Amino acid sequence: MKAWRLNAWKSDLVLVDVERPRPGRGEVLVRVGGSGACHSDLHLMHEFGPDMLPWGPPFTLGHEVAGWVEEIGTGVADLEPGRPVAVYGPWGCGRCPGCAAGAENYCENVSEAPVPGGGGGLGLDGGMAEFVLVPAARHVVPLPEGLEPVTAAPLTDAALTPYHAVRRSWPKLTPDSTAVVIGIGGLGLMALQILAVTTAARLVAVDTRPETVEPAWKAGADLTLRTGGDTAEDIRHFTGGRGAEVVLDCVGSDATLALGAAVARRLGDLTIIGLGGGALPVGFSRVPYELSVQTTYWGTRPELVEVLDLAARGLLRTEITPFPLEGALDAYRQLEKGMITGRAVVVPHAEGPRP
Ligand SMILES: [Zn+2]
Ligand SMILES: [Zn+2]
Repeated sequence: MKAWRLNAWKSDLVLVDVERPRPGRGEVLVRVGGSGACHSDLHLMHEFGPDMLPWGPPFTLGHEVAGWVEEIGTGVADLEPGRPVAVYGPWGCGRCPGCAAGAENYCENVSEAPVPGGGGGLGLDGGMAEFVLVPAARHVVPLPEGLEPVTAAPLTDAALTPYHAVRRSWPKLTPDSTAVVIGIGGLGLMALQILAVTTAARLVAVDTRPETVEPAWKAGADLTLRTGGDTAEDIRHFTGGRGAEVVLDCVGSDATLALGAAVARRLGDLTIIGLGGGALPVGFSRVPYELSVQTTYWGTRPELVEVLDLAARGLLRTEITPFPLEGALDAYRQLEKGMITGRAVVVPHAEGPRP
């Protein structure tokens, strides 16, 4: 089968012929119907080097995957070939308290995971290929009626990650609250939609680019602001001087974190989703009293089930730009240049296996 492999750090992907894997005991072979091209793949290709992660090349890229069950290993029940599925991306040990709760993104026993702190497309072979071998049936989530693999694939990360961040702050997102989303790219737009359909909070969208205003309105924003001189004051004013209960920073730079802390309310949440590499000084008189500041990584399996349900009901929308399998490198090049609207999805198969 054809697969896009990362053979070395700081190199481009190469399309090669590899042997099609056979599922062993408890494993599932998924025929890939969609594999999201993600910004973090660009970081993997260009920025990482030896000893920076507990895993490394060679492996097949692609960590946002959906498709159809092609073949099941012995001992796998309830997953017949042809069933449309999404792949839950973080693959943990399956037994520690985190994994037992479905939070394999926070596996506490990573030495017993298939790859420490990674998954398919992150140290192990992922979905930029005709087929992907999933090492345990529990990572394979059946798609609800009305959701196609090509649409579901990017949701497994680009929606699951902001969904997890929003969901953990639900108790603070009462109808009289305000949530601020900083950075209205793919994740930020998804965060706005998720806030709009799961809470009654007032939503403020902040970005430097004027072209983000229209999509932010469509995603449910009540107020859109350009980053600049008076942004913090505008948000304070919008919240009657109190500040926002929840700030989701989808950029994560020094400047956006400082803005987040400046507009957050006492007892609020400031959640850093963006990998901008910034830092926030925390201490007395630096941030509001009892502000909780946290980073997040991906989401849980039960949350993926909820995300897929929202999407199947038409409550989450993603614009997809499809590419054939041979066009994956093209997809990444366009992604890098900011030419993709919505999510680029590589489509190795347009249909499931024949019965
Ligand atoms: Zn991703
Ligand atoms: Zn675990």
